[in-house]
Amino acid sequence: MPVNAKTSTTSFGTKLVHAESVDENHFGALSTPIYQVSTFHQFSFDEPGRFDYSRSGNPTREALEDAIAKLEGGYAGFAFSSGMAAISSVLCLLSAGDHILLSADIYGGTYRAVTRLFPRFGIKAEFVDTTNVNAVESAILPETRMVFLETPSNPQMNITDIKAVSEVAKRHGIITVVDNTFMTPYLQQPLQLGADVVVHSATKYIGGHSDVVGGLVVAATAELADEIKFIQNAFGAILGPQDSWLMLRGLKTLKVRMDQHQKTAHSLALWLKNRPEVKHVYYPGLPEHPGHELALQQATGFGGIISFVLHDIDQVKNFVNNIKIPALAVSLGAVESILTYPARMSHASIPEDKRIQMGVTDTLLRLSVGLEDEEDLLNDLEQALTSAVLSTPL
Ligand SMILES: *Cc1c(COP(=O)(O)O)cnc(C)c1O
Repeated sequence: MPVNAKTSTTSFGTKLVHAESVDENHFGALSTPIYQVSTFHQFSFDEPGRFDYSRSGNPTREALEDAIAKLEGGYAGFAFSSGMAAISSVLCLLSAGDHILLSADIYGGTYRAVTRLFPRFGIKAEFVDTTNVNAVESAILPETRMVFLETPSNPQMNITDIKAVSEVAKRHGIITVVDNTFMTPYLQQPLQLGADVVVHSATKYIGGHSDVVGGLVVAATAELADEIKFIQNAFGAILGPQDSWLMLRGLKTLKVRMDQHQKTAHSLALWLKNRPEVKHVYYPGLPEHPGHELALQQATGFGGIISFVLHDIDQVKNFVNNIKIPALAVSLGAVESILTYPARMSHASIPEDKRIQMGVTDTLLRLSVGLEDEEDLLNDLEQALTSAVLSTPL
């Protein structure tokens, strides 16, 4: 459904709270009811009703799809059963013989899909350092149809210039897709920078509470929206009504959560970089981060994810064994802080040499900063770092 731009002049926090339309057909309910239904009775032989079958369309899912389209400033939105279902469905825009360029340090699941699944259908993937616009342009082949960016990337938080890459891609008749999971539309709106499609793992910040898996797609144009709508219905990897409702609920508090996540993350990044136990900190908010200036230009914040490197693997092990507040888990963007060991978790599906080349070494940790009090997180990091080094002196 095309969305109306009624709320486009209001500020983002207001837009977030009111992105979900209040519908007279739902008695003005401020929260869209969960339409737990698979099929819809057709009242007229000649005229089909607005919904017929929940794979093709469901009122609760549609409320979420319209909301994300408004927030990203796109033509239409689509909700899928996971971030990977969203990404794989977008990759279905390609055909046999097509070539796709992706950011070199792309999410592990995207890497797996484009290196092991889509090649079966004759789609070739190539990885390029997308932080270098010239490298992107040089890698374009006559059969290149899509550039797929993730910025900030994971876990090194590399920043790609969305506007510059989209311009190059457009010149060559190629579409640009941006995985906006780490930033959310609150901090970065790729379509406004020239991208054609935005994808999200809504499992992360949009859901925000470690209780639902889902993916979202927003298309910039009616033409792309038609194709994605066709794929969503044909492939069928849709988000269910209960999970759509949880995503709508998560969206309403996105701004306050993100504000707090990144405030604490910024403080912790500054603190970590001065600790002798820490060899390096990757956070785009740090002025020495290579993408800092670009992040300031194309986003309105630096997000809540920090990666950092310790000196050796024993220290990593001791640190992980001693840390108390963050959950040791995959995923990110939740109210709880989550500590990930990418080498064995999020990036485990990437061959070791390739993984190390991406900077995902055995001494790298990633922290998704939650909503706990900063002081408590800082004290916890301090005791875990101290005990990590006590067990294995520097
Ligand atoms: C988690 C994640 C995905 C995959 O999403 P799922 O919901 O787990 O399928 C894709 N991209 C990024 C950047 C992610 O963090």
